[in-house]
Amino acid sequence: MTLQIRTYPDEVLRNKSKVVKDINGKIITLAKQMAETMYLSRGIGLAAPQVGEPCCLIVMDVGEGLIELFNPTIISSEGLAPFKEGCLSLPDITLEIKRPDAVVVKGINRNGKEITIEARDLMARVLQHEIDHLEGTLIIDRISKAHRQLISGKLKKLRQENT
Ligand code: ZN
Repeated sequence: MTLQIRTYPDEVLRNKSKVVKDINGKIITLAKQMAETMYLSRGIGLAAPQVGEPCCLIVMDVGEGLIELFNPTIISSEGLAPFKEGCLSLPDITLEIKRPDAVVVKGINRNGKEITIEARDLMARVLQHEIDHLEGTLIIDRISKAHRQLISGKLKKLRQENT
């Protein structure tokens, strides 16, 4: 079963997600459905708020297999590089975002085991993008006012379509 992807300006995208305290069958099913939804939408990452569930869970696959991560946090980062990012919640918008190009992320897998991921380049990028979603942050919050002005027409169109 696939889930409906919430798009801007849906308020659920702005919530701060709740820490997952109990990795039960229900949330494992959610992770599985999120992965299916991500693959079907040809995305490389998806955060739970994007399917209307404000809890700390992300799934991603940058071509190296599926990663499911509960309660992910960035514990260190280095470098800074621009990269064009898209978002399933902001259809037809691609923005150049500057972020660290290497991160170390800690989280929990579906067995409740703590895992550490050392990521560079695209994987580091996607991890940061998805963890941003758990804070209620979208890529449009990470660009300058002038840049946002340039895409104001597209955002207006999304607001009209989705409200
Ligand atoms: Zn996104």
